[in-house]
Amino acid sequence: MTVDVRELADLGPADRTAFFDRDAGIDAISDDVREIVDRVHEEGDVAVREFTSEFDDVELGNIEITDACERAYDDLEDDVREAIETAADNVREFHEAQLPEDWRREFGPGRELGRRFRPIERVGVYVPGGSAAYPSSAIMGVVPAVVAGVDHVAVVTPPADELNPVMLAAIHVAGADAVYSVGGAQAIAGLAYGTESITRVQKIVGPGNKWVTAAKAAVRGDVEIDFLAGPSEVVVVADETADSDLVAAELVAQAEHDPNASVVAVTDDADTADAVAAAVDEQTEAREREDVIRGALDNDASGVLLARSMSEAILFTEEYAPEHLSIIADDEESILERIDSAGSVFLGPNTPVAAGDYASGTNHVLPTNGGARVTGGLSVETFLRSTTVQRLSATGLADIGDTITALADAEGLEAHAESVRRRIEDSENDV
Ligand code: NAD
Repeated sequence: MTVDVRELADLGPADRTAFFDRDAGIDAISDDVREIVDRVHEEGDVAVREFTSEFDDVELGNIEITDACERAYDDLEDDVREAIETAADNVREFHEAQLPEDWRREFGPGRELGRRFRPIERVGVYVPGGSAAYPSSAIMGVVPAVVAGVDHVAVVTPPADELNPVMLAAIHVAGADAVYSVGGAQAIAGLAYGTESITRVQKIVGPGNKWVTAAKAAVRGDVEIDFLAGPSEVVVVADETADSDLVAAELVAQAEHDPNASVVAVTDDADTADAVAAAVDEQTEAREREDVIRGALDNDASGVLLARSMSEAILFTEEYAPEHLSIIADDEESILERIDSAGSVFLGPNTPVAAGDYASGTNHVLPTNGGARVTGGLSVETFLRSTTVQRLSATGLADIGDTITALADAEGLEAHAESVRRRIEDSENDV
């Protein structure tokens, strides 16, 4: 298979729908996932074990494996342990910088208003682990929750005959309180409704394949979720100054996550487009996960695209709203200025998406499928709730008393108006 260059101007309505309305196969499985979720809700551990046997080919012993994580950490080789700790430190530092402070101030005489922030008490983090192990996702999901002050952070991750020790150790370093060896839709349902072994949580976060993502959509409403973080996506915006090998390397890297991943390069330079397509072919051949990469490259929402101008490339990118956006061009900042919708942005030739995937400190759990049009990625705020607080003095209440009573009377809510008038009369009598 070779990668073709397509001209943006030639894309028909069906092509554009495939790029801008991508669902990575989630719609097609929603009925099957509903059945898994309902069975776990009704039958608890029995259903969890049955689906794990069916989909993961593992007969579960203990579902909870919290102790195994500490043991894996103790047995780890020094260089890997150091890498996990450095990545976790960088992620912790970036997320600590996001912690909002409680505040209160006077907005008018005697009218004091403010906000305070408190952590959610129990959250669940999905750490993917089917076709690849994701120790990095453990750090990205758990560390912000711990920084936010969440009391109970549970992790679910798919089982295997031999669990990946690096992932277990990363879950330990990140600071999870409970770890369960279960993946897919059955794990999401277990967290949402609780089972004999799994403690029910109030909010579920984390990325996963289409089964996980469809399950998060199915339980939304019964439990909070972060957003839908499905198969990975990248758009690389490149001009004629970009090194085509580096652009291709970005596409191939995200493509190796999942055959449902979507990877796009868009450029206004025909030679760059041709060189990127050729480099993608060449690099794919050399990769261990060639089949997965080819699957992703074959997706309708993947490709190397030639725009007539950088403005056209930018408009395309804005409409795509990618999970990851890499800009490799002469003036990256001015291109960035013109794009609002992207989960995480990587500027310049020295900033591979892998930096944010693993260790620079930003979070790699990001909205896919156009979610970046309305939300950002995982952050400390994901794990906080805010409360507004107010105190009015007699003067403060008198100042807005007529406004409140006029609106309350207009709504026919007489008791509301009365609760204000009583206080104003009381304070007038006191004078
Ligand atoms: P995964 O943990 O998401 O999924 C594995 C589980 O899928 C298994 O435990 C199994 O129970 C379930 N499953 C597999 N086939 C099934 C079937 N036919 N029916 C029902 N259930 C089935 O691991 P993965 O598959 O390696 O996928 C990881 C995903 O996470 C990739 O798509 C990757 O792109 C994505 N990812 C996204 C982000 C993000 O922020 N958006 C970050 C990292 C990874």
